[in-house]
Amino acid sequence: MKHVSKLPNVATTIFTTMSNLAKEHNAINLSQGFPNFKSDQKLIDLVVKAMNSGFNQYAPMLGALTLREAISAKFQNLYQTTYNPDNEIVITCGATQAIFTIISTFIHSGDEVILFKPAYDCYEPAITVNGGKPIAIQLNYPNYKVDWKRVESQINQKTKMIIINTPQNPCGTIFSKEDMLELERITKDTNIIVLSDEVYEHMVFDGLTHQSACLFPDLKKRTFITASFGKTFHNTGWKLGYCCGPKELMKEFIKVHQFNVYCVNHPTQIAIAEYMSDPSNYTSLSQLFQQKRDLFLDAIKSSKFKSIPSQATYFQVLDYSEITDENDVEYAKRLTKENGLAAIPLSVFNDNNLDEKVLRFCFAKTDETLLNAAKILNSI
Ligand code: PMP
Ligand code: GLN
Repeated sequence: MKHVSKLPNVATTIFTTMSNLAKEHNAINLSQGFPNFKSDQKLIDLVVKAMNSGFNQYAPMLGALTLREAISAKFQNLYQTTYNPDNEIVITCGATQAIFTIISTFIHSGDEVILFKPAYDCYEPAITVNGGKPIAIQLNYPNYKVDWKRVESQINQKTKMIIINTPQNPCGTIFSKEDMLELERITKDTNIIVLSDEVYEHMVFDGLTHQSACLFPDLKKRTFITASFGKTFHNTGWKLGYCCGPKELMKEFIKVHQFNVYCVNHPTQIAIAEYMSDPSNYTSLSQLFQQKRDLFLDAIKSSKFKSIPSQATYFQVLDYSEITDENDVEYAKRLTKENGLAAIPLSVFNDNNLDEKVLRFCFAKTDETLLNAAKILNSI
């Protein structure tokens, strides 16, 4: 069979590659971002209750109303702003589907989409599959600061969308209020849609605050925010998330969503809606993950790996340039095979695979796993 690939340069994702390698070599897996501890039993019991109560058929197309209401209440509670549960919030199959659907809805052939590198890996293929052109702006280790004048200079008639990700995976950095104001300024009076991937919104450390796009009125008018319950409630395998945005834009999103998935898993939606009625179930996450970050960094402080504590997410990047000048992909593989510890090389997320000799480690793990990983890093 002859066919022309829409993604000729895309290989298997680094997350699958490294997790498989970790399994093969029985290595501690700090590569792919998922917790190795159980989520709250209360939440699991709520899913069982929802199933036993008969929530086993199609959910409403936009998602269970109770969950959309709970999300709306969360925005009110955390950001004093509202999204209408009737037409501005849609429950999706993880943030990944929300992102793919947003891009498919708005990107026409030849449209340009600005994104920042290192970038989470699902943005660029979604743009390419839809005929769009990714315009990458490389940010650099260790601070990954954005030069907004440079971003502004990339905007032209073809610019249809800007994708931001704050808190940022893989760097563990966040956009400041000034960054968001700059984004608001450069998009003002344009037709540019902003896709703000905020899946790590509840994991921000050291007293910093998450600057959600919804806090900036002119940005909010043009922005889709995406979120992931997998990240928030330690159940990445449930693949449940949502997106919200202004109703005129959401109307178009829904046209695609209805034929993309129509609706997503119902009992987990009912359970999460009830679970969210206690806001401490998400507001406690910063403390949980800051403790894990500190435990991990303290345990490796005399190793040869250099670090700047991550500001947010559950990832820590470590600079290994004192150890070897091997390329980061090669080093990540060797670390897995020879030392029994898997991490993610950052170059795979960079423009032209720029190699800055840094690896990403996921610290959403039990303290025991983190201390065992630290022993390995200290021995190098
Ligand atoms: N965006 C970012 C930045 C991520 O790290 C992830 C992985 N959780 C996603 C989106 C996708 O989220 P989900 O697993 O809910 O599809
Ligand atoms: N978001 C996860 C990470 O950054 C991976 C999700 C996936 O494997 N697609 O590690």
